[in-house]
Amino acid sequence: MTSHPTIPPVAAPGGLAGAPITQDVVTIPRRMEPALRINIVGLTRDQLRDALIAAGTPERQARMRVGQIWQWVYHWGVRDFTAMTNLAKDYRAFLAERFEIAVPEVVTRQVSEDGTRKYLLRIAGGHEVETVYIPEDNRGTLCVSSQVGCTLTCSFCHTGTQKLVRNLTAGEIVGQLMVARDDLGEWPEPGAPKDETRLVSNLVLMGMGEPLYNFDNVRDAMRVVMDGEGLSLSRRRITLSTSGVVPEIARTAEEIGCLLAVSFHATTDAVRDRLVPINKRWNIDELLGALRDYPRLSNSERITFEYVMLDGVNDSDDDARRLIRLIRGIPAKINLIPFNEWPGAPYRRSSWDRIEAFADIIYKAGYASPIRTPRGEDIMAACGQLKSATERGRKSAAQVAAEAGL
Ligand code: SAH
Ligand code: SF4
Repeated sequence: MTSHPTIPPVAAPGGLAGAPITQDVVTIPRRMEPALRINIVGLTRDQLRDALIAAGTPERQARMRVGQIWQWVYHWGVRDFTAMTNLAKDYRAFLAERFEIAVPEVVTRQVSEDGTRKYLLRIAGGHEVETVYIPEDNRGTLCVSSQVGCTLTCSFCHTGTQKLVRNLTAGEIVGQLMVARDDLGEWPEPGAPKDETRLVSNLVLMGMGEPLYNFDNVRDAMRVVMDGEGLSLSRRRITLSTSGVVPEIARTAEEIGCLLAVSFHATTDAVRDRLVPINKRWNIDELLGALRDYPRLSNSERITFEYVMLDGVNDSDDDARRLIRLIRGIPAKINLIPFNEWPGAPYRRSSWDRIEAFADIIYKAGYASPIRTPRGEDIMAACGQLKSATERGRKSAAQVAAEAGL
């Protein structure tokens, strides 16, 4: 049932520029230029309803039309209005003139030895972002980007060496999931029994960018993704990772309600200032304050504390013990991430023995402390390795080292 993206007919450059214009006659173009068409992907139900009405859909029909279009786009994965057979032909033509169903374009797709897939996607303006699919035994996680680059400069993160180019739109965020489902062939076939094991069963906002610096678009995108009549990922299968944008944490609980992960990475302000410089703005104490309220506000489960293991920097037994003291009282699990190296990185991964010793202290204190197996390292798809190589405006190695305090 899935139809492949159709390329809208391209209007002559300049549109009506050459048409004779008289003062009192307004000519309405028969076809709108593609750029003027509204992309349906990423609009919330309310936004889609408003857009349909603004384009001329009678108000009393609008809610029903939203429901129909929604199912075609997000349940069946249809990209072509002509395939929407429960809509009248005229209405399909009307939609095709004014709207489009557009997802980012796949520039490259790499498959790791371990099955991890990394997509380099092109979005409007010629920018590029990366999305990573990580298959596991009985689930599959899609790691989605929220920005091109990042304004923050965590000294161990490859993305942090790339300046922010722009926020992604809600459509570009939702589009990453749709592209992955295209590639995995995961749209349902009509009449086929409902498949309970989904290839993309979980979504993590852990790709490029700081999602809480693009709050509104991330929220809208997650509303689309969570909608039960479409992509239908439950809020408990979505994890948003933040470096610690304290003022937006309560809003994340209230307006998105997904699970939260926080890039903690250090147990003293002096070290965290160096690793996650946003700590200079909101320190460990303020961050923990916001995290204490999160589970109550979102009715969610534990918070994941992400902790990158950097040799000789944050990986001592004392660090492990301090970490336990700091998070006391917060329902938490601690995700230890062996540092993933990237060209010019100013750190080394802690030894395996050190990581295990650290994990053991945490485990004995009663916390789950999984060590995240690096996935897709051979294709630079592991945590913190994402960066669109073609983007210009990167920082120099000297700047990276200076920010790491080396
Ligand atoms: N900007 C958000 C989400 C993206 S990063 C955030 O910082 O939370 C996803 C996770 O990978 C974060 O915990 C981040 O700190 C971690 N990470 C970044 N670079 C890494 C690297 N080189 N090795 C291992 N983990 C890294
Ligand atoms: Fe940005 Fe997250 Fe990387 Fe820090 S770790 S630079 S916040 S993407």
